[in-house]
Amino acid sequence: MAYKNIKIPADGAKITMKDGELQVPDNPVLPFIEGDGTGRDIWKASVAVFDAAVEKAYGGKRKVHWMEVYAGEKAHDMSGEWLPEETIEAFTEYLIGIKGPLTTPIGGGIRSLNVALRKMLDLYVCQRPVQYIEGVPSPVKHPEYVDMVIFRENTEDIYTGAEFEYGTDENKKFMGMLKENFPEQYDKFRFPDTAGISIKPVSQEGTARIVRAAIQWALENKRKDVSLVHKGNIMKYTEGAFRAWGYEIAKGEFRNDIVTERETWILGNKESNPDMTVEENAKAIDPGFDMMAPDKQKEILAEVEEALALWDTHGNGKWKTKLNIRDTIADIVFQQTITRAKSFDVLATMNLNGDYLSDALAAQIGGMGIAPGANINYVTGRAIFEATHGTAPKYADLDQVNPGSVILSGEMMFRYMGWHEVADLILKGMTGAVAAKTVTYDFDRLMDGATKVKCSEFGQAMIDHMD
Ligand code: NAP
Repeated sequence: MAYKNIKIPADGAKITMKDGELQVPDNPVLPFIEGDGTGRDIWKASVAVFDAAVEKAYGGKRKVHWMEVYAGEKAHDMSGEWLPEETIEAFTEYLIGIKGPLTTPIGGGIRSLNVALRKMLDLYVCQRPVQYIEGVPSPVKHPEYVDMVIFRENTEDIYTGAEFEYGTDENKKFMGMLKENFPEQYDKFRFPDTAGISIKPVSQEGTARIVRAAIQWALENKRKDVSLVHKGNIMKYTEGAFRAWGYEIAKGEFRNDIVTERETWILGNKESNPDMTVEENAKAIDPGFDMMAPDKQKEILAEVEEALALWDTHGNGKWKTKLNIRDTIADIVFQQTITRAKSFDVLATMNLNGDYLSDALAAQIGGMGIAPGANINYVTGRAIFEATHGTAPKYADLDQVNPGSVILSGEMMFRYMGWHEVADLILKGMTGAVAAKTVTYDFDRLMDGATKVKCSEFGQAMIDHMD
């Protein structure tokens, strides 16, 4: 496509996808959005770090050709549009890109540009690693126990934007339709005449692709478990369905490589007591078995038999080598990821739970200034790596904020491209700069004996520590 404001770098080549594999040339064109507010300072520091790491890793054999694309205030000033069509086109055409934070006005005005980009490019995985870097100030006693990766579903749930504002004709029409056709549901509304409504769709296809991505990634990266996070005890047909479909995908597509937590109990019971009957095993995994209704008991007995049928591939301790699939309720997970951080690994979540959880977990490893993120479609290969924090407007153009979130998002991006040497150098630079206590204001205020540096100086300190 011919672009109006975007200038395509002359010497770069496109990243493509062939047979499900990314094809990354030595001179890839990577689109970037600088971002609003502090995005300007952060991008300058970040791109210097990226270019230095590529140069140090490959000595000129490989080079990124950055292509600026526009969104947010800069785009609006230039073209009157917040998210120009050609920006979407560029990310579609060039597959992989990176962005700084963009302003989202609250209540009315434009909808979130970040959400719009994810939806338009169908970037269904929001991937957020939460890993501690030695020396980063943290509010918890053992931040080094934290090593989790969140796979948050990015395209549905309550974020779909199917909403009916209170007081509008649409709202009245919707409530009228509900009253007439679904009186039982209508009667559940405490204040039906003054309610704003949001619809929460959670589909089988949407669940399948996020859980599949989480399991595939966990297997490729030799992680030990995947937890399905849900509030299915309350929202049975959305969050509960997410849990049920998640297990279906795990068992249906990855049977040989995974074991569910309950299967580990059943197989473990049989191993420690080979004479144990199916019924005894059922009572061991569900101590309330005797009080259950006959149908429920039948279900548990069938579950035990199904697990024991895995004996050849999973029995005799073989299950200990498999990826463990389990589920956890969304409220308790906030507590346990703090009190038992070591026992969490990969977390697959729906959109809203994942949004809360990723920010909460980021606090344990140093906060938003340093937490990276990526939005990925593992089928098309398209991906946008991005800062997880906002534009922090009060610090705009002061060269003060921490560029860590965009820089570590870049680290993820280079790893995704297969340029592991660059990613390793970025991590080395970050670890070195923090260990030397050369940090931006946000870490300085929490550390003893630190040297406070500017955003740009932190980037330079990272480059110095790559050697
Ligand atoms: P914010 O921009 O994330 O800032 C909140 C606070 O977080 C800042 O005041 C600062 O804390 C700290 N912080 C953020 N970025 C930092 C960095 N790079 N280094 C160090 N500290 C950092 O959140 P907000 O003020 O709620 O949102 C501002 C705008 O950003 C809104 O328009 C919002 O919609 C948008 N937003 C965009 C994205 C995105 O583009 N992905 C995400 C979230 C929000 P201290 O004041 O304590 O130093």
